[in-house]
Amino acid sequence: MADEPDATPSREYAYTGSARIVSTYAVHDDDRFVCICGWEGSLAELETEVFEQVADGSCPKCDRMLVIREFPTLAYMRRWAARGNAEAARDLARAEQAREARR
Ligand SMILES: [Zn+2]
Repeated sequence: MADEPDATPSREYAYTGSARIVSTYAVHDDDRFVCICGWEGSLAELETEVFEQVADGSCPKCDRMLVIREFPTLAYMRRWAARGNAEAARDLARAEQAREARR
């Protein structure tokens, strides 16, 4: 995984020629995405499409793909949860419950 828990996350994602690939917990709700068409906004304002392993976010103005978010693995959730990330802790609890239920 590219984004380790102790890596300082970038707070502004300017478009640099291709969609930025990030892990789920590395992006914060108040991070800004800047498109070359001049559009600027938060993750929630992007057009989101969810796939099995990733979710992408595109500029709502020109449809350029700005970000690809990888869904976290269990090990990844554990690492972030151990660092006090509430979202990771919640996802981890859910994932472990689902595993228990399959037994
Ligand atoms: Zn755009």
